[in-house]
Amino acid sequence: MMIVEHKFVEFMPEIIEDGVLYISLDYGTVIHNCACGCGSEVNTPLSPTGWKMSYNGEAITLNPSVGNWSFDCKSHYWITNGVIEWASTWSDDRINKIRKIENNERDKFYESKKRIPTVIEISEKQDSEESLSKKKWWLWKLLFGE
Ligand SMILES: [Zn+2]
Repeated sequence: MMIVEHKFVEFMPEIIEDGVLYISLDYGTVIHNCACGCGSEVNTPLSPTGWKMSYNGEAITLNPSVGNWSFDCKSHYWITNGVIEWASTWSDDRINKIRKIENNERDKFYESKKRIPTVIEISEKQDSEESLSKKKWWLWKLLFGE
């Protein structure tokens, strides 16, 4: 069982030690050296479309998994309660599929954000239609005295 420690920091240190998650809540980012030992620095930014981190008071859980597709090692693992759980090696095909899903989710997220002003536009249209029918009613009253 491979255990990772964690350090809450404000700024990321120059030297990232193996087996330590450096967490900067100020900057919403988590950095660690690839768990395979290849020495590559893994940056997992925390965001609604990125990684979510939970801290149970003793250990860190990161979600989703860490997939280092861009590194030679192509390592893939979960960090759950401070423990590295290795995933089986993924084929390029599967990696591409996952990347596509991730991109779609990201697009959906930003689309849903874009959709908010559209809803406001619709309700504004409804309002103006309502006020228009009021105007018609006044005109009707004026013309026909009812
Ligand atoms: Zn690696």
